[in-house]
Amino acid sequence: MRQRIVAGNWKMNLGRVDEALAFVRSIRHALNDIDGIDRVLCPPYTVLAPLAEVLRATDIGLGAQNMHWEESGAHTGEIAAGMLADLCQFVIIGHSERRASGGGNETDQAMNRKVVSALTHDLTPIICVGENLTQNESGETQAVVSAQVKAACIDLSVLQVKKCIIAYEPIWAIGTGKSATPTEANTTIGLSIRGTLADLYDEATAQAVRVQYGGSVNPDNITGFMEMPEIDGALVGGASLKPGFVDLVRKAAAA
Ligand code: PEP
Repeated sequence: MRQRIVAGNWKMNLGRVDEALAFVRSIRHALNDIDGIDRVLCPPYTVLAPLAEVLRATDIGLGAQNMHWEESGAHTGEIAAGMLADLCQFVIIGHSERRASGGGNETDQAMNRKVVSALTHDLTPIICVGENLTQNESGETQAVVSAQVKAACIDLSVLQVKKCIIAYEPIWAIGTGKSATPTEANTTIGLSIRGTLADLYDEATAQAVRVQYGGSVNPDNITGFMEMPEIDGALVGGASLKPGFVDLVRKAAAA
């Protein structure tokens, strides 16, 4: 049985200490009381330290939204995995918004290096994969997603890959209000993510890795995704910034 997991990606929101603390204080007890599902908040770097403090006595996890693969050095504006390891347990890697805007630092090869560095520092990588609208409409979804999974997993051992979480996030569904259908997401995850992992490793490994769906998930549609056999949770953007996130997680746990 794979443990379910919902993570909230705050993106560049709630990054002031006062607003982040106020929001988390308003939801933390209710969120912490939900059993049977891992709950993770991924705020901006600026509030990781104060939120780590406020969440210390809870089971709610914290994640960063990106990291650099090097340990240290001349990388102005970047944050290394070792710098995050005392503050959080998770890190999002390869989010499409970063792949679109991050220049040379967001290639498939960089994703792989980030995954390796995150694992070295005991951070759980949440690896984002997904096709854009053109690729979707031209029937390239399976090939694109499979290639991204392969690139992220180069040289990872079975033990290492089992520690990763993969988030299937069709780019056309992110922040658009137009989610994939649960069946579409389930099919792509089964064929292109678990299928690729089974080819790279074996069926048992493919079945052990946790896979989330992300893209316009909200309290009204979460249940449909969670009822799908290949989907273990959600990576949630906009809806994680509202008090209704607690309801969303509760429904994800109950489905
Ligand atoms: C995301 O940012 O990963 C995401 C899925 O955003 P949204 O839920 O707003 O579509």
